[in-house]
Amino acid sequence: MESIVRGIFAAWGKILAGRHPNLSIEITRECPLRCAGCYAYGEDHLGGGTVLRDVRDLRGERLVQGVLRLLRRTKPIHVSLVGGEPLVRYRELNELLPRMAAMGIHTQLVTSAVRPIPLEWASLRRFQLVVSVDGLQPEHDARRAPATYERVLKHIAGHQVTVHCTVTRQMVQRKGYLREFMRFWSRLPETKRIWVSLYTPQHGEISAERLLPEDRQQVVKDLLELREAFPKLETAKGLLGVYAKPPQSPSDCVFAKTTQCLSPDLSSRIEPCQLGGKPVCNECGCIASAGLKAIGRHKLPGGLPVGSVFDASLRLGALVRWLREPAGQRQRPKKTLPVLQE
Ligand code: SF4
Ligand code: SF4
Repeated sequence: MESIVRGIFAAWGKILAGRHPNLSIEITRECPLRCAGCYAYGEDHLGGGTVLRDVRDLRGERLVQGVLRLLRRTKPIHVSLVGGEPLVRYRELNELLPRMAAMGIHTQLVTSAVRPIPLEWASLRRFQLVVSVDGLQPEHDARRAPATYERVLKHIAGHQVTVHCTVTRQMVQRKGYLREFMRFWSRLPETKRIWVSLYTPQHGEISAERLLPEDRQQVVKDLLELREAFPKLETAKGLLGVYAKPPQSPSDCVFAKTTQCLSPDLSSRIEPCQLGGKPVCNECGCIASAGLKAIGRHKLPGGLPVGSVFDASLRLGALVRWLREPAGQRQRPKKTLPVLQE
């Protein structure tokens, strides 16, 4: 998250120019896992009609060149590579990642660590490896096989990783669960930091994962305590404040407004954010969204929230983009811009 946050400040010029500073690419539609509550394979992920498994999946040189063309055109500051499972395309990534680092792009790769992670990636600049670990071994293995603890531990050896856990209702209901999780992952030399997101449901979802309001309050309280005991756990107080009171809609979400999310064909957009479909914003627990929202709530000297300056910049950016369009093709700019255009 810190690289996203750094990126946002560095990206002010891009926002003012009406462009997205952040890009999230589903680099492949393939994934050997079948996680319960996976949003990527949901029916509405791409807005209905098409599902992820039907999207054109590029590979080999076509994927490498397609991504490079996209990066040259959109000039993002921060790129998240997600899936599917990005490691399915490790050969293409072997070529892409060093080139992205050389382009000055901060890249984050989110993986289940289901297969070996090339050791060359450990020395890449501007690169962050995020490994999803959803709970302690019994629950994680049941949920994320074949990316079991045994495999994850084997495959992260030699790397410095960000361990990312998405908290579900089942975890909250077991007293001391998160503390046990922190204890296990904090002691590993491969763990550079630990991030915690909260499970974000889709509208109409009835699932065992979905947190109740009292669960949410409990997690926030637990994390406030745990951050003192486990320095590798990165959860700023402001971020926890957003978990307690999430954005109300995509137009209230800095992350959605500054990030363009693309599916594996490198052109279909995923909206309103990387979750796609119809996420329940006021139950959002996405760490990237919360981190940026926390900055937006921060007050400048004089009492003005950073978010209002940010929104003014977004509106100015929309105007700049509108002026860039050929006069005959201009559409009336919207009063509030939900998501920036490319
Ligand atoms: S690893 Fe990710 S994309 Fe694959 S099934 Fe699990 S949540 Fe879905
Ligand atoms: S990331 Fe933003 S748009 Fe997506 S669910 Fe969370 S608050 Fe809503």
